[in-house]
Amino acid sequence: MKGITANMSKAEIVETFMNWLRQRNPGEQEFHQAVYEVGINVLPFLLKHPEYTETNIFARLTEPDRIIVFRVAWQDDDGNIQVNRGYRVQHCNAIGPYKGGIRFHPSVNLSILKFLAFEQTFKNSLTGLPMGGGKGGADFDPKGKSDAEIMRFCQSFMTELYRHIGPYTDVPAGDIGVGAREVSYLFGQYKRLANQFTGVLTGKGLAFGGSEIRVEATGYGCVYMMEDMLKHRGDAIEGKTAVVSGSGNVALYAAEKLIELGAKPVTLSDSSGFVFDPAGIDSEKLAWAKALKEVRRGRIAEYAEEFKVEYHQGKRPWNVPCQIALPCATQNEIEHADAEALLSNGCLGVAEGANMPSTQDAIDAFQAARILFAPSKAANAGGVAVSGLEMTQNSMRLSWSRDELNRHLREIMLDIHNRCVEHGSERDGFVNYLKGANIAGFIKVADAMRAYGVM
Ligand code: NDP
Repeated sequence: MKGITANMSKAEIVETFMNWLRQRNPGEQEFHQAVYEVGINVLPFLLKHPEYTETNIFARLTEPDRIIVFRVAWQDDDGNIQVNRGYRVQHCNAIGPYKGGIRFHPSVNLSILKFLAFEQTFKNSLTGLPMGGGKGGADFDPKGKSDAEIMRFCQSFMTELYRHIGPYTDVPAGDIGVGAREVSYLFGQYKRLANQFTGVLTGKGLAFGGSEIRVEATGYGCVYMMEDMLKHRGDAIEGKTAVVSGSGNVALYAAEKLIELGAKPVTLSDSSGFVFDPAGIDSEKLAWAKALKEVRRGRIAEYAEEFKVEYHQGKRPWNVPCQIALPCATQNEIEHADAEALLSNGCLGVAEGANMPSTQDAIDAFQAARILFAPSKAANAGGVAVSGLEMTQNSMRLSWSRDELNRHLREIMLDIHNRCVEHGSERDGFVNYLKGANIAGFIKVADAMRAYGVM
């Protein structure tokens, strides 16, 4: 890349690149953060690999293939016409069709979706499955909306999106604010407009092309990753106290797998606060929490009332003593002070269920303390991996059993772990999982891009 020379220090290389990126993408802080998190490992690696520098691959990878932005007009229950903004960032299809979720949340903007699509490209590569990277969404808040309003919004959103996606082009899925209900409305509208029943979305209901284990996959996969990291250090997950944030799709199934493997989750949260259950959230309490969140769509504070435990309004759970921490809510939910609190309470490992939940300062603190740290592109790849398997089943027009899919998920997570070890091991045996995931994810995409020539 212009301005970068072999005699520069690692810090100078990263800074030169980041200055260029910031100028090209002003104000997109989350996107800058995500590129930095990858660049800090990949840019120094590139210097030893002229085949990648000569083809300027990393800079090319920071420019999405295309971005689609569109108006979503819909009518609320009072008859008012509302307008939101919809997006799809088709980041890179070097190794397969664009693949990545759709997020409905008032905070959605281009910076957030560009960061998510960029991350998704490396994550999908790490799974070993043929999937490119993309992400989409809208600044729409599903909270407090009726089912009919959600349906009308989803139908309007898909009325534009459908012309840009397809089973060989771009295959969206759920994310924050987009669960089974929303995916069903989106898929129904796609099917109606395209007059085709194809695997164009993943996370579908089991009755219409969905896959077993997809709902559980991200949370389960995150816990498998933690299990593998602990094993690699000669430790075990059994008996460990775990702090989990969030109470959505990822958090609830991470808690489920923790319980199954003999660990003790003690917290859950939502954007209003967290509950702390020192006796541990067991299967019965978790079933109650699932009904609260998935069926009644209530607030986590109700858990505290039901089970007579502490509720901390407006707070995040990182001051609660634990051995493992699984951030499963949203980006930048662990800041530097939170990381310090976790470390001073003896936390041994963090696996990121959410996307980019730790700020760069927090990651630096974890790595300086040399605790186990699995970045999101490795730790939460189980969801998209099973989405990839849903696409395979749709193409083959058959359904695999729950056991078979769980076996595949387990193997894929172990493979991701081992690839992080291969590319992230340091001389003293410490595994830098972030570096390992970044480099392993990058190589496959970069090799495909080099093969295609300049485009
Ligand atoms: P859900 O919408 O099911 O749940 C999100 C949870 O996080 C809710 O408890 C929500 O609380 C909380 N949350 C959302 N925004 C904030 C915020 N700003 N501050 C505090 N809490 C917040 O989403 P998912 O569980 O699907 O996704 C969670 C994370 O995991 C996201 O980062 C997503 O990108 C990532 N992910 C999800 C995958 C999946 O398969 N679903 C796959 C890979 C990554 P509230 O209800 O109050 O908003």
